[in-house]
Amino acid sequence: MNKMVITCAVTGAETTRAHHPRLPITAEEIATAAVEAREAGASILHLHVRTDAGEPTQDLEVFRRAISAVRRKTDIVIEVTTGGAVGMTPEERLAPVQLEPEMASLDCGTVNFGDDYIVNTLPMMREFASQMRARRVQPTLECFDLSHVYASHVLIKEGLVTPPFHYGLVMNVPGGVRYEADTLALLLSKLPQGAHWTAMGVGRASVPAICGALAFGGFIRVGFEDNVYYAKGVLAESNAQLVARAARMSRDAGFEVATPDDVRSLFKLRQS
Ligand code: ZN
Repeated sequence: MNKMVITCAVTGAETTRAHHPRLPITAEEIATAAVEAREAGASILHLHVRTDAGEPTQDLEVFRRAISAVRRKTDIVIEVTTGGAVGMTPEERLAPVQLEPEMASLDCGTVNFGDDYIVNTLPMMREFASQMRARRVQPTLECFDLSHVYASHVLIKEGLVTPPFHYGLVMNVPGGVRYEADTLALLLSKLPQGAHWTAMGVGRASVPAICGALAFGGFIRVGFEDNVYYAKGVLAESNAQLVARAARMSRDAGFEVATPDDVRSLFKLRQS
């Protein structure tokens, strides 16, 4: 399939209104951003939610409201975060999987996050993977490091994650691996045969990671979670503007932009 799957991460956990004055925070704002992103070419919404005060939360009711607001307006595939935010407990992070979204992120190892860090032990990863499996939620295996790819092999060997596999390769988190073409190629060489993958370049690595995805046969993620700039020193107008550029680059490179239903069939998502 010569189709490009574009994920839009519209809010994230760490981005604030100080970083971008139009960061979507409420359920309605997130739904509007999702509609605009979908129109610009995104087929997956990566979803974090916030309290009314703008703090990251994994509260089930806040997720429920955001998901139904998005569902009322667009057919975009919803991928909830289970990475949550720095300092959250594993139970908090896993909570939104109970809502049986089509997809969820699954962090595959402990990682520096600037001056903080996010812990993911193998027992936690097994629990997250089994909960997703029980509810037929497709995991995106988020790897911030080569060791995370090897940790994902453990989950696969134990039968907790089954094909089709989808990886999220997160690069340029401060304190983590940078986006570099040779590093990306090394990560890719260790993925299971036939695995799908999405390049997630943080900050200034966003556009280089899009180029890496186009060059090496992967998918793309953009959005304010990863990067709020359109160019050096120039804020993006919206999440959709970042999606539109990724879609344009994909078309110029000879890809069709995938629809949400393309993603449902490619990833064999649960028919709910
Ligand atoms: Zn996220």
